[in-house]
Amino acid sequence: MDGIENIKAVLFDFDGTLTQPGALDFPAIKRKLDCPVDLPILEFIETQPPQEQARLMKTLEEQEVNAAISSMPNSGAEKTILALLDRGYCLGILTRNSRKSLETAFLNFSIIDQACFEAILAREDAPPKPGPEGIYMAADTLGVTTESLIMVGDFRFDIMAGVAAEALTVLLTNNKPSPMLPDDPAPDYTVSRIDEVLDIVL
Ligand SMILES: [Mg+2]
Repeated sequence: MDGIENIKAVLFDFDGTLTQPGALDFPAIKRKLDCPVDLPILEFIETQPPQEQARLMKTLEEQEVNAAISSMPNSGAEKTILALLDRGYCLGILTRNSRKSLETAFLNFSIIDQACFEAILAREDAPPKPGPEGIYMAADTLGVTTESLIMVGDFRFDIMAGVAAEALTVLLTNNKPSPMLPDDPAPDYTVSRIDEVLDIVL
């Protein structure tokens, strides 16, 4: 696999990317929230009346924190982060999850911690992916342009946000079928394990 020159920063999705996939059972959460299966949760909540939105967000946050308690680092994730830091890259996290659930999940990491990342943007901090705003905000905090940043994530929205922000993108499949739909933008790279990022970002 060819390496990429001029990359200065690596921005990671959190759930299913730095953590093992499957901790958040999205179909179960959607059933609990009465969210249609074909709608993303945050976007569904936004369509509800204000009072209902508050109740649904509270339920979502409880579900996320419960999932975070048992969520574990993805295989090879901690080693990958350390290697990237060693190579001099600035690192960030951009997640649609709540900050509390991210902080809870980090308690199960043993080698790395939040201090490894110069930018951490949870949904309280930036408009959610697939919009590009969070990527621009992270790039700003990291002191790089989006063209010198690579976005790594396991879901369509990670790739869509990265492409919209003119960043390079890596789709992490975790050895599962690709989540991308036919009309989605194509990722620049596809890997099955997170440590394969080290073959791209040299
Ligand atoms: Mg994810």
